[in-house]
Amino acid sequence: MIIDCHGHYTTTPPGVAAYREAQKEILKRDPDHVFEKGDVVVSDDEIRESILSNQLRLQRDRGTDLTIFSPRASWMGHHVGNASTSQAWTEQQNDLIKRVCTLFPENFVPVCQLPQSPETGIEASVRELERCVNGMGFIGCNLNPDPSGGFWKDARLGDRYWYPFYEKMVELDVPAMIHVSGACQHSLDTTSSYYLGADTTAFVHLMFSEVFVDFPKLKIIIPHGGGAVPYHWGRFRGIAQDKGLGDLDERVLGNIYFDTCVYHQKGIDLLLDVIPTENILFASEMIGAVRGVDPHSGHYYDDTKRYIDGNKRLDARERELIFSGNAMKVFSRLDVQRIRGDQA
Ligand SMILES: [Zn+2]
Repeated sequence: MIIDCHGHYTTTPPGVAAYREAQKEILKRDPDHVFEKGDVVVSDDEIRESILSNQLRLQRDRGTDLTIFSPRASWMGHHVGNASTSQAWTEQQNDLIKRVCTLFPENFVPVCQLPQSPETGIEASVRELERCVNGMGFIGCNLNPDPSGGFWKDARLGDRYWYPFYEKMVELDVPAMIHVSGACQHSLDTTSSYYLGADTTAFVHLMFSEVFVDFPKLKIIIPHGGGAVPYHWGRFRGIAQDKGLGDLDERVLGNIYFDTCVYHQKGIDLLLDVIPTENILFASEMIGAVRGVDPHSGHYYDDTKRYIDGNKRLDARERELIFSGNAMKVFSRLDVQRIRGDQA
């Protein structure tokens, strides 16, 4: 089985954008408007069509089996409006993901976004995680380390601000993928400098913190191959050593995992050389940031299975860990037996 641990619903029917645009229109008139959840007008047929012709088609073309699926990350937009804006939008987005996974139970498993809002308490996110995991069978969440969209106004990930959320993650035994949303800071570009910079920043927050001492069972996935982290592992190891933080591998590798959303062979080879196999989860983030074909290879940049297949060092056991074994361990609520039963 091949599990893609990083997919977003980027091809939503028009009713989803219409809901969000209506929120933004209201905010233009009244920034303090208190939002109710309301309704997203999308039919099951529209959802089916949007998945069949996009994500499911590519799953089949590329030979992957299951996608761990979450709302479109660049649309989480935690900086838009106020806390009630984020709450209503997030609940709708998570309900929509649940509908996709109910319609396609053999191919998609749900992961939630959180109703974060800049300079606002984390309690609403704790409640939404509980609603999604206990109430709707979600197996993880996307945690935004910078709800301000590029201004980094909120506490670092090592701060106690986040601790009630980490406690809930451990209690529910679900991992978080670190994932920022759209950048609204003028010098940042969302899916390139902002995403990769935020992945790197989040890693550093955590390596400098006591989070994994206080929460030894916490599981964090850094996406996009870990941003700059694997490439600069020597720098981070040296900084940890200079600061008296000990061996970096021992400090973080019991808790941090990296995905394989790296869009060229040499980048994947480096990731696989530097980071232990047990800490790498297969992912493509399709249909996402990069949608074109690489003229050098003739294949889609985000067809990352080809790079894992193309690596010359991995043996069969290591490939199996990256393609599914590690994901089953990290996403411990992923019930592969049930999914395989459904497929039988
Ligand atoms: Zn993503």
